[in-house]
Amino acid sequence: ADVSGMEIDEKPAVSYDTIGGLEDQILEVKETVELSLKRPELFEKVGIEPPKGVLLYGPPGTGKTLLAKAAAHETNSTFIKIVASEFVKKYIGEGARLVREVFELAKEKAPSIIFIDEIDAVAAKRLKSSTSGDREVQRTLMQLLAELDGFENRGDIGIIGATNRPDILDPALLRPGRFDRFIEVPSPNEDGRREILKIHTSKMSLDKNVDLDIIANLTEGASGADLKAICTEAGMFAIREERIEVTEVDFIDAFDKIMVYDHEEEFKKE
Ligand code: ATP
Repeated sequence: ADVSGMEIDEKPAVSYDTIGGLEDQILEVKETVELSLKRPELFEKVGIEPPKGVLLYGPPGTGKTLLAKAAAHETNSTFIKIVASEFVKKYIGEGARLVREVFELAKEKAPSIIFIDEIDAVAAKRLKSSTSGDREVQRTLMQLLAELDGFENRGDIGIIGATNRPDILDPALLRPGRFDRFIEVPSPNEDGRREILKIHTSKMSLDKNVDLDIIANLTEGASGADLKAICTEAGMFAIREERIEVTEVDFIDAFDKIMVYDHEEEFKKE
């Protein structure tokens, strides 16, 4: 199948210890996605179907993709990622066919995890207006629902959806046997930020006065993706001044730069 616009990683290298501050979420992913891939016989013996779809929801850049990749890593599964919004834009008139092909590919490469990012792009509540674009999105959603209903989960395919707009999802998608498990992936709190900073500074050469507790405290509002960008930017400040060690001031300057930039982007959108 020729399916571009899709990312396939036969052996994702992400493990849970590269994810900071999401201990509860990791446990939930283990109990839902992983268990049915690793121990399908448990479900068979008890006589219930293993869960099919798990929905991760929360703000952008908080680690949803990381969680899905780590679950694939842990279960030796092929990781197949599609970004629903791009899918709809790129393949006008072909969204439904592509959904079919993704599921075929997942079966071929099983065990696999299908990760559908920005799932709201094809699964928003039905609109009253009906442009051809809306109808195309509808068809794609219908096919997705048909695939979810049609495949009997033998425990070799896991499906993870991600969205930062759970409120606009079509309830049809959330029925039992479809996406019926929900895991919230929130913005990190101070402890979470410290854990994430630890991960992203582990290979950095830090000045001895750098205190990650303080940086965690000062970076209120930063997501995991922001914190990663802040670490890189702090390193850039050091390089510009031809220093080898990154100082606390570099982190604070980086925070100002990254978060201001973020807000300007937001502003442009409005
Ligand atoms: P989106 O909703 O925008 O797709 P996401 O929730 O899927 O975002 P990721 O793609 O997982 O976010 O995160 C982007 C990058 O930010 C990651 O590759 C990682 O480097 C960093 N990151 C985000 N969250 C965490 C976290 N909890 N721990 C460590 N790194 C993180």
